[in-house]
Amino acid sequence: MLRMGRLMPQLEFRWVSWLRVPALPAPVQEGTAKQDCRLTAWCVETCKGLYLNELSRRIGVSWNSRMQTTAGRAWWPDRAIELNPKLKDLPSEELWRTLKHELAHLIAYERAGRRHTDPHGPEWQAACAELGIPNEQPFHTLPFKRRKMKRNYAYLCPNCLTVLQRVKPIRRTVACYACCRKFNNGAYHSRYRLIAQRT
Ligand SMILES: [Zn+2]
Ligand SMILES: [Zn+2]
Repeated sequence: MLRMGRLMPQLEFRWVSWLRVPALPAPVQEGTAKQDCRLTAWCVETCKGLYLNELSRRIGVSWNSRMQTTAGRAWWPDRAIELNPKLKDLPSEELWRTLKHELAHLIAYERAGRRHTDPHGPEWQAACAELGIPNEQPFHTLPFKRRKMKRNYAYLCPNCLTVLQRVKPIRRTVACYACCRKFNNGAYHSRYRLIAQRT
């Protein structure tokens, strides 16, 4: 069976107003995020170069293995960036683009102070241009595939010859649902009992 990777918006930005919500949720669960010293150091230097001292002191980049289809996230005011480890399997431009996209969010918010800014508004676009990704889009898609399960068990309907594939074996006696519905008012009939196939 061939399934196409679902294309979904890959970048999201979580912004929590520190005026309305004084207590902030922790950005990452323990044990799922790994700090990346190299990428953090790059962000620190970049922020220093832009004279954003507080951001350079507090910024941290980590890998979060719980992220499924989102490439990156930025957390404010935690000043944290989380990246999807699947980026490591893609050409390195994708990683840098995602990192810069997220860093641009933090730069835009750092500069805005308490002024409200749109997540992908002019401040963010300006920061993207400074980071070398002038035409960055609010959302881009990456060819992430959902985790693929190996289907090791196959069952054949002797009536319609449909083969059902399963990750786990079926322990109960089961019949073809489509045939039971079509020919037996949805009730089980042994004539449509599925036959286990060797795979
Ligand atoms: Zn964004
Ligand atoms: Zn059938």
